[in-house]
Amino acid sequence: MIKETTSIQELIDLDKKHFIHPTTAIEQQQADGPSFIFKEGKGIYLTDVTGRTVIDGMASLWNVNIGHGQEEMAEVAKEQMAKLAFTSSFATFSNEPAIRLAAKIASIAPGDLNAVFFTSGGSESNDTAIKLARHYWLLKGQPNRQKIISRSKSYHGVAMGATSATGLKPFRDFTNSIAPDFYHVDGSSIEELRKVIEQEGPETIAAFIAEPIQGAGGVNLPPEGYFKEVREICDEYGILMVTDEVITGFGRTGTYFGIEHFGVVPDMMCFAKGVTSGYAQLGGVVLNDRMHQDFIALSKGTLLHGYTYSGHPMACAVALKNIEIIERENLIENSKQRGEELLAGFKKLQSKHPIIGDVRALGLIGGISIVKDKQTGEGFETQLAPRLVAEAAKNGLICRSVTFDQDTLVFAPPLIITKAEVERMIEILDETFTAVEKEIL
Ligand code: PLP
Repeated sequence: MIKETTSIQELIDLDKKHFIHPTTAIEQQQADGPSFIFKEGKGIYLTDVTGRTVIDGMASLWNVNIGHGQEEMAEVAKEQMAKLAFTSSFATFSNEPAIRLAAKIASIAPGDLNAVFFTSGGSESNDTAIKLARHYWLLKGQPNRQKIISRSKSYHGVAMGATSATGLKPFRDFTNSIAPDFYHVDGSSIEELRKVIEQEGPETIAAFIAEPIQGAGGVNLPPEGYFKEVREICDEYGILMVTDEVITGFGRTGTYFGIEHFGVVPDMMCFAKGVTSGYAQLGGVVLNDRMHQDFIALSKGTLLHGYTYSGHPMACAVALKNIEIIERENLIENSKQRGEELLAGFKKLQSKHPIIGDVRALGLIGGISIVKDKQTGEGFETQLAPRLVAEAAKNGLICRSVTFDQDTLVFAPPLIITKAEVERMIEILDETFTAVEKEIL
């Protein structure tokens, strides 16, 4: 038990001894201990136990869209917890926050995506979409349609289905056995998607799943016209199209959902993260009317899929307040405008710093590729992004490195960020690149 008087060193020791961090370099954690033990957050800032304050340039895990320390969120959580913290949504039980949130999400989701299945996070949402797609085809009398196609640099989470769909190979190699019937295609090649569908047999494919903008794979925007063609191919072969909006949902890219940039509507859309801005654990899948009506018409007996926390009243109440804040504070428009400033800032850095290659952003999600040679795009033998992340943190900015077959810095600040704060982020990055270039060039 950590006592009030526990020193920071004791916290570090306890962290190393008892806390297995998710997605971490475990040896490094044991050698160095935690880099920050955060204590509080306000707006775009986080403060640690030593009193250091830094800009949370990743909105923590791409999710704290409304920023830290929004007291209304705490109030609504307290109120709902005191009234009814939890009740089951299984079978015919229901609760008001879940009903109201499902209706609200139906009203903001694109097209005819109108029926919501709740989960506790992104991985569960993707597993749910995969299982619902496969179950759908069983009900439709096409039991052979069980294969799932996804893209090579995708990240869909760590539940077994979500990991199997994840294109980033190290996640699948983490165990020596992964679920069957998953296929990965080059994320920028429509031709390859068509080829794999035809090779495997369209009548065996249940669904195609993709992030509108890949996050953990390095912030990759799709090629021009990509999702329009995906929609057409899915329609041509009768394949369900699923978008993973776990990062890109709830204003991150300057529209409510990322797929809106590309003018098509998927059959299912997965969400999590920004639905509560991380103030509670919640995710879900939105189904279109056709799938929902088919489930109603064709299901025999119980839909045997559900999590204890599906439709959690407190989490749903928190999500409703989060969406109210996003709308009241015009955070989607802010994401669009500040995103343009962030991209302009990246371009300025690109023209000044020899090791900056491609830069990109859409709304408040962005990436900077690090290169040894701007002309050829050749990278450094040892990736520099982790070194840049450490230097940026020292200078007061949290960002993240992506080093799977690349050398990239990624950013996703809270959507409440101001123009001046975007400028400050760029200043810090300028200092950071200058320092690292001085060391290596
Ligand atoms: N899908 C995408 C696109 C993600 O970025 C993530 C997490 O970063 C997930 C799914 C998994 O979500 P969770 O960590 O909530 O299970």
